[in-house]
Amino acid sequence: MTAINPRPSQTVMKPEKDRFLAAENPFEEMMSRFDDAAKRLGLEPGLYKILRMPEKQITVAVPVRLDNGDVEVYTGYRVIYNTSRGPAKGGIRFDLQVSLDEVTALAAWMTWKCAVVNLPFGGAKGGVICDPTTMSNSEIERLTRRYTTGIIETLGPDSDIPAPDVNTNERVMAWVMDTYSMHKRHTVTAVVTGKPIEMGGSLGRREATGRGCMLVTREALKKLNIPLKGARVAVQGFGNVGSVTADLMAKAGMTIVAVSDKSGGIYDPKGLDLLDVFKHVQGKHLLNTYTRAKHISNQEILHLDCEVLVPAALENVITHDNAAAITARIICEGANGPTTAAADEILNAKGIFVIPDILANAGGVTVSYFEWVQDRGGYFWDEETVISRLEKIMVHSFDEVTTMAEKHKVSNRIGAYMLAIERVAAVHRLRGMYA
Ligand code: GLU
Repeated sequence: MTAINPRPSQTVMKPEKDRFLAAENPFEEMMSRFDDAAKRLGLEPGLYKILRMPEKQITVAVPVRLDNGDVEVYTGYRVIYNTSRGPAKGGIRFDLQVSLDEVTALAAWMTWKCAVVNLPFGGAKGGVICDPTTMSNSEIERLTRRYTTGIIETLGPDSDIPAPDVNTNERVMAWVMDTYSMHKRHTVTAVVTGKPIEMGGSLGRREATGRGCMLVTREALKKLNIPLKGARVAVQGFGNVGSVTADLMAKAGMTIVAVSDKSGGIYDPKGLDLLDVFKHVQGKHLLNTYTRAKHISNQEILHLDCEVLVPAALENVITHDNAAAITARIICEGANGPTTAAADEILNAKGIFVIPDILANAGGVTVSYFEWVQDRGGYFWDEETVISRLEKIMVHSFDEVTTMAEKHKVSNRIGAYMLAIERVAAVHRLRGMYA
């Protein structure tokens, strides 16, 4: 479903290279792994039926007065996938690729992700079909406030807690929090995470997803006996996740040989000068105008000679068509759903060690949980505490996932799904069914 009278930018599909490829239906991609894990767990048919359905899907029209006086109506979604373990948790994205199927898959992934790292949360996701790069700040603010109002009955610190995702950030979260608080007639900081520090955000939240990626990659290198110092890394996607992952991996001693954004990638086999690259992108420049490295495409970056590949952009970039040419020893999935089920089989056959999204990028929601705890307690931790608690959870979860995978002789991905589904199922069994 698309908006009525969309702006021209909403009807024009982005060129292939801008979308980092995409064809498969993300919900089906999620379900095929869910089915595999559920079968191996011997999940009861009733629970299987419950867990393959979202609890609630909300679609809202989001009218916005544009700066030129025209009115535009966007389409927004919020999907609550499962709340058996606690309040629904998951980000909001603003993107042209948003669809109900995609948001549902992302909400399911949040459910499994929170369970993998054992947070007391269920899973949700939200999205608005729009291209925020063509909108002014005040248009984005009006869009955010109207969308928040549209989904307000689900929001709340005990029911549904949004966070940033693709093309949303601290400032957007501040507007969500303010809009919700104005309706409630008092300030409710814990309704949203990933907020600015000044208004109840957590230290270390902005870097948390990238830090988690770095930590689990470090553990994978250790496990495979690959020296961390000088391990060559290629990072596809240079948003919050990709850029922080690259930065923290470089600081840990790895060599970042390539990074890319929607305009394409840059490559230097001896290692990029990341400080110089950051300076370039801070000026709002895309990487295709960076001159001090070789230019490569978003396809080529997947096939570089390196130890670690970090897909940190959008879904379905590693597919049946390009998986065979990947030579990295480790894939750390910074993005949600970057690998299709068909590609999984190829990667497994090649013996590539995949750190699945629901583990690899769980650092973000883990520090979101810390933020929610701090907001509710009204007591804030120093950054050291946040970082050390995050590290403990990521390392422990990495061990739990790999142990599960080894025990059942399955991929890390299926091991992670098994761990997550079992945890969600266990709570359903204890709670019983209300009828
Ligand atoms: N959007 C992030 C994710 O996909 C963070 C979600 C959150 O912190 O609630 O994991």
